[in-house]
Amino acid sequence: VYVKSFEVVEKPNVHYSDIGGLSEQIRELVEVVELPLKNPELFREIGIEPPKGVLLYGPPGTGKTMLAKAVAAESNATFIQVVASEFAQKFVGEGARIVREVFELARRKAPSIVFIDEIDAIGAKRVDMGTSGEREVQRTLMQLLAEIDGFKPLDNVKIIAATNRIDILDPALLRPGRFDRLIEVPLPNYEGRKEIFRIYLQKMKVDGSIKYDVLASLTNGFSGAEIKNACTEAGYIAIREGRRYITMDDLVKAIEKIRAKNNKSKSTER
Ligand code: ATP
Repeated sequence: VYVKSFEVVEKPNVHYSDIGGLSEQIRELVEVVELPLKNPELFREIGIEPPKGVLLYGPPGTGKTMLAKAVAAESNATFIQVVASEFAQKFVGEGARIVREVFELARRKAPSIVFIDEIDAIGAKRVDMGTSGEREVQRTLMQLLAEIDGFKPLDNVKIIAATNRIDILDPALLRPGRFDRLIEVPLPNYEGRKEIFRIYLQKMKVDGSIKYDVLASLTNGFSGAEIKNACTEAGYIAIREGRRYITMDDLVKAIEKIRAKNNKSKSTER
């Protein structure tokens, strides 16, 4: 059986303008990833070394994967995505080999961005190294560190990792020369939520009743992914009611539905 251990996208179809509420994060990524990939000469001339690895951290569904794809697209770089939790589970005994292959490919397809999602799955502090599974994960991590250490800051491969659990990461990953630039990707604030609603509702058919400030007020605590879900859900409500456009009322109902679902899943988590 052939199971995919990583995914290569020559040119992801995501742009900075598709991302709401993260302009600071985008600005930083342009400076430390896009510019060095496009114009390493500038950095050589001035004499500074950009980070080899950037770590995006923050709650689920806030746009970390989108950010990584968008930087790849805008840098004209190949995007290679690895989901660390998947290969830790599916490829027992093969983690280190896959890491090696990923970086070989990255060099061959350079300029490229290697995106490691859920890096905590291989990069968590280990409490107990007793089991063989733990040792296997450790070997995978060692291989990743060796690959990162093998690059020069101005080589045309960049590594972006993402996690929602920065608190449990092995400090070895965060040492200088590795993931030494940390960028927080928080839940969107009021303005950010407004922007995200605009991005999605612009592509949908709505009537004149939409109040973006009210939508933003009603969605305190929502992630970008949840706002997108609310917009989609509002579309279903409109269809169910036999309309061909979305109203403010549909959105309010959709938001309530998603909020109720969240409360339920949060109370069963305990
Ligand atoms: P996870 O930690 O769960 O992997 P993530 O932070 O990588 O989440 P994404 O996969 O980038 O989140 O976001 C999930 C989806 O939610 C995106 O495909 C996009 O549709 C939407 N989304 C999330 N954040 C934003 C945002 N800031 N602007 C626009 N859309 C967003």
